Amino acid sequence: MKITQIETFLVNAAPPQEGGWAARNWLFVKVHTDEGVYGVGEASGWPRVVQTAIEDLTCLLVGEDPTHIERLWQKMMGSIMGHGMTGVVGFGAMTGIEMALWDLKGKALGVPVWNLLGGKMRDKIRVYAHAHDAERARELVDRGYTAIKTGGIRNCVESVEAIRKDVGSDIDLMVDVHGPPWMTTRDAIALGRRLEDYDLFFYEDPVAPENIDAIARVSEALDMPIAAGERHAGIWGVKELIEREIIDVVQPDTGRAGGLRQMQKIAAMAEAHYITMAPHDGSLGPIAEMAAVHLMASIPNFLILEHLEDDVPQRYEVMSGQPTVVDSHIAVPDAPGLGVDIVEEACVKYPSEGNISLPEDTYDYQYFWTRENRATWLSNQEKARSSYRPGSVF
Ligand SMILES: [Mg+2]
Repeated sequence: MKITQIETFLVNAAPPQEGGWAARNWLFVKVHTDEGVYGVGEASGWPRVVQTAIEDLTCLLVGEDPTHIERLWQKMMGSIMGHGMTGVVGFGAMTGIEMALWDLKGKALGVPVWNLLGGKMRDKIRVYAHAHDAERARELVDRGYTAIKTGGIRNCVESVEAIRKDVGSDIDLMVDVHGPPWMTTRDAIALGRRLEDYDLFFYEDPVAPENIDAIARVSEALDMPIAAGERHAGIWGVKELIEREIIDVVQPDTGRAGGLRQMQKIAAMAEAHYITMAPHDGSLGPIAEMAAVHLMASIPNFLILEHLEDDVPQRYEVMSGQPTVVDSHIAVPDAPGLGVDIVEEACVKYPSEGNISLPEDTYDYQYFWTRENRATWLSNQEKARSSYRPGSVF
């Protein structure tokens, strides 16, 4: 069996209303062979740019046996090294192709991907959904969700307090700060100190991801699990976070971490440091989510998977084999490969319109606004002050 062609489908994944993620896209990948078997995958990491990267990589793969997945990954890695550290763009492109190779191999052998990855640890994958207020959290809990994430720094403490009060202590609650560049390390600690009272499952991306020492300072200062890793590429991207045991939960993005083999290796690195894995799914489409379901079925240190519930109608149109969430879990499918397929007629109904998010305000507004919020987070002055110990982790 030989690879003959690689196709991509760029799908507009923005909500139908004004605003929101105005430029969100999903990039689906289809690897064809001379035997008619094909595999599907998904790539993130700046989708329209990744689409071009996949076109560049295609000539390396045409004519190759698709079943030697690690060898083909190493071939791609070696071929792009001259471009420098390509980050989530290079790794995103390799991810989409590699994911499709697993689907293809599973279909060719008649086995699900989880079987190729080592077999199942579990039959269903626990997922969490998102709520910005108590009303939405209550709705999700009533639908069976047992874990909820809220996000951002706007009214963060108030939202967490209201949600916790409404859903009670049995529901796992998480906060994602989204690591904005305008969040200082000291503010992230101050906010974290206020959140410590709410028994969080984890505190995610408290500061921007580029400065590992800043995350380390937040982690050292707070007494709750810290999660990060969604914007990093490959085993090397999260190596220091894991080896220095800065984080408690590693969150590789299934669409840009480098592929299922890279995620498997990250899981093993994390396992050695008693760190769990909760893959990022926030900008991904349904194909990458199903790839995460297969991989998370096979690793021991799986914690929970992010799930976008009711985000955009096209999520439920562009892929066959849609999962259903029952009691906060997705059942691990038994069909060959990933058990899903791209619905091409649906993909073309949603052409891409943009590829970056436009800022709501001027950039420096965000910096000033965050400083103003510090007063709110520091309302518990004694606790906030005692949280920051300069140089305590170095
Ligand atoms: Mg996040």
